[in-house]
Amino acid sequence: MKLSFYGAARTVTGSLHYIDAGGSTVILDCGMYQGPRLESHERNKKMPEKAVNAAACLLSHAHIDHSGSIPYLVKRGFRGSIFCTRATADLLRVMLLDSANIQQRDLEFLQRRGVPAVEPIYDIDDVEEALKRLVPVRYGSWFEAAPGIRAKFLDAGHILGSAVTLVEATEGSMTRNICFTGDLGRRGMPILRDPEALPACDVVLTESTYGDRTHPSGQETEATLAAILRDQAARRGPIIVPAFSLGRTQNLIYALYQIFKRGDAPRMPVFVDSPLSSKVTKIVSQHRDCFDDEALAVLGADGAPFYFPEIRYIEGVDESKELNDRSGAFLVLSASGMCENGRILHHLKNHIYKPNAMVLLVGYQAQGTLGRRLHDGAQLVRIYGEEIEVKARVQVLPAMSAHADRNDLMHYLSPVARSCGQIFVVHGEPSAAVSLGDAMRGMGCAQVEVPNPGDSFDVV
Ligand SMILES: [Zn+2]
Repeated sequence: MKLSFYGAARTVTGSLHYIDAGGSTVILDCGMYQGPRLESHERNKKMPEKAVNAAACLLSHAHIDHSGSIPYLVKRGFRGSIFCTRATADLLRVMLLDSANIQQRDLEFLQRRGVPAVEPIYDIDDVEEALKRLVPVRYGSWFEAAPGIRAKFLDAGHILGSAVTLVEATEGSMTRNICFTGDLGRRGMPILRDPEALPACDVVLTESTYGDRTHPSGQETEATLAAILRDQAARRGPIIVPAFSLGRTQNLIYALYQIFKRGDAPRMPVFVDSPLSSKVTKIVSQHRDCFDDEALAVLGADGAPFYFPEIRYIEGVDESKELNDRSGAFLVLSASGMCENGRILHHLKNHIYKPNAMVLLVGYQAQGTLGRRLHDGAQLVRIYGEEIEVKARVQVLPAMSAHADRNDLMHYLSPVARSCGQIFVVHGEPSAAVSLGDAMRGMGCAQVEVPNPGDSFDVV
C-alpha cells in the first residue's frame, strides 16, 4: 500500500495525490496548477498516465485548484468515476464551464494583441464529458471507490460541499484508514457548519495553507469591515473587492447583510459584478442542507442573507461599465480573487488612481499576481498594458479566509497526531508546511513528512 504525491506538494495549487492499494489506484483531487500563465500551462498539460489510468477520483471540493484539471483528465482517457458530495457536483458544472471559458477568452485576448498564446487544455465539450463521470454521494455514507478501497465524505466546513475524505484501503490482510483533510475550514465561520472532528485513522494527509499563521476571529473581522464601510461612507469613496467567486464572495455578502441589519455601518449599494459569483451564490443559497444553525436562523423568504435591497447582481457588461462613473460610497465585489483576470481588472483600472478609493483584499494573494503586488504596496501597477499609479488605499482583511489557521489545524489534528502512524503535510508553501510538520512531530506522531512532488511512501 502506497501514497504518492504529485501536486500541491510544497505548494498550494494543483492538488493531486495517489493511493495504491490491493492493485487499485485512486486519486485524491485533480486540481489545476495556478501560477504564471506559461508555467501553469506546461504543468497542467503534463497529466501523469498514473492519474489517467486510476480507477476513481475522490474529489474534496469544487475549488479549481482541487478540481480544475478533471476535464483534462477525462479528455486524456480517464474512465473511472469521480466521487464528490452533491453540493460539489452542483458547483462543479459552473466552475468548470467558467474555467473552460476563461482559457478560451485568454487565448482570444492574447491573439488579438499578437502575443504567442497557448491552446486551452480543454473546452466546454470536455467539461460536459467530465460531468458525466460525477457520482454525487451524501456526507457520511460509505461507497466503494475501487476494489479494496471504500470511502466516505465528512463535512470540511471550508466551502459549500467541501469534504474531508476518509478512505479505508485493504491490501491482503492489511487494512488502513487514510484521512485526507482537503481544504479545512475554520470554526465559527458564517453560513456553513464547522468542520467535523477528524476520525480516528492510521494516516493523515493534511493541508497547511496557513500552517504558520493565525487569523483574527470572525467577530473582529466583521468589526473591521464595519469600520471600513463607515470610513469609506465618510470619504464618499468606492471599495473594490477582488474575491473568489466560491466561498469568499458569499461570506462577504453574509457579513455585509449582518452589518447593515445591525446598523453597524451606513447602508450602501453593493454590486456583485461577476457572472460566476452570481451563479455560485444562487447555488449556495439553494443548499440549506449545508448551513449551520445561525445561517438557518437568518434565512428569509425575501432571499436574505444573499439577496437584500442594497445588493445588485450584475450580469451585462454595460451595467458593469456604469460603475466606472459612479460617485459616492459603494462596494464592488468582483473576480478573480488574485486580480489575474475577469472584470475586477476593469474596476481596478478605473478606481485605483483615486485617493478616496479603497482596494480591500480578502483572500490569499499568490506570488507573481497583481493582487500580491497591491498587497505588497506597489505604487505603480500595469493593467491591460497601462501603467497606473496606485492612489487608493489598500487594506487587507485576512480573516475572511475560509482556511483553517494554525490554531484551527492544531485543534483538528492534535487528537489524531499521537494515535495515527503517519502524517503527510501537503497544500502549503514550504515554510507553512514545514512549520506545521514540526508541530505534528512535537505532538508525538511517529512519521511526519512534507513530501516533494513525485515522492512516494509505503503505508505502514
Ligand atoms: Zn479550497
